[in-house]
Amino acid sequence: MRIDEDIKLDYDDVLLRPKRSTLHSRKEVSLERTFTFYHSPKTWTGIPIMTANMATCGTFEMARILAPHKMITTFHKYYEIPDYKKFFSGKDAFKNPDYIAYTTGIRPEDLKKLDTMHTENLMRHFSFICIDIPNGYVDRLLQVVSDIRKKFPKHIIIAGNVVTNEISEELILRGADIVKVGIGPGSACTTRRMTGVGYPQLSAVIECADAVHGISNDQGCGLVIADGGQKYPSCVAKAFCAGADFNMFGSMFSGYEQSAGNTIEKDGKKYKEYFGSSSNHAMHNYYGKKDAHRASEGRYALVPHKGNLNDFIQDLLGSLRSTGTYIGARRLKEFSRRATFIRVSRQLNNSLEQFDQGA
Ligand code: 5GP
Repeated sequence: MRIDEDIKLDYDDVLLRPKRSTLHSRKEVSLERTFTFYHSPKTWTGIPIMTANMATCGTFEMARILAPHKMITTFHKYYEIPDYKKFFSGKDAFKNPDYIAYTTGIRPEDLKKLDTMHTENLMRHFSFICIDIPNGYVDRLLQVVSDIRKKFPKHIIIAGNVVTNEISEELILRGADIVKVGIGPGSACTTRRMTGVGYPQLSAVIECADAVHGISNDQGCGLVIADGGQKYPSCVAKAFCAGADFNMFGSMFSGYEQSAGNTIEKDGKKYKEYFGSSSNHAMHNYYGKKDAHRASEGRYALVPHKGNLNDFIQDLLGSLRSTGTYIGARRLKEFSRRATFIRVSRQLNNSLEQFDQGA
């Protein structure tokens, strides 16, 4: 047994120190980034924000809303091949490969489906492939990443989830372009409670970003996604400041008219369903059963109806631009260079939550 005494931080543990700035308006802050990659020969330009690959937000409908904003939708694993064929054909065919990601697990049936997608020529519609398992420390992930890289030399490959530097580096060296970082921070995730495993998310992002950014060649360097635990737009800003190249989240995309999940009326109020991918709800609804050896590591929640997603997108992008003006960053790329974090007590950072909860 060993105890790591270093202090590790979460989004709630820090604030950003304001800095002198020559920016006069939020409009001057650009949130677009252009990335090249360690393996993939593609160049990607957009706002590096993406949906979680969850049933409630990794949907076709979300892609149609987010792609015009140059943001990415990472599809959930429950779409079948005929669903994709329909989505990519006809007069409403979706035609923006740069803003969608195909998600696969590493089970034989997941890989068989990916192979069929490939032979049916459907993978040409995607720039990204997201290889996603809750515990990215299993050896088999590395093998699957190398195999998928060989089959898809041009695609931008995402792999995760992990929270530490060595494995992040290993994933890049084995074929991933982007490492997905986060074990346990998700709002619908109960991994920390059920297993005791996890890593404070801000520190995980700082450490993994620092590690993979150091792996570079003539074309590009390793990149990271900060996945989960962003409760407010400020958390998204803090993740970018911590070195995240992309931000992925689910709960902030939940509760809107356009989010998937049933709308439920209770005591005269409207709610939308939000549930973790490993919740009993997801396992029963999408896989038809829960394996005997598995415990649920996700929860089901009813989120108060929040209205129209487009208003949220405007608020989110406006808040990020505002962070840029406070810290003197003209472009998203400069956020991490300009950022100084101040450690604060969580109580201070969460002081608004008493109002959210109606206290
Ligand atoms: P959120 O935005 O809700 O804080 O976090 C979304 C992230 O939580 C997802 O991208 C995924 O990494 C993680 N997640 C989603 N569902 C589950 C689940 O059922 N269990 C666990 N452990 N993590 C989940």
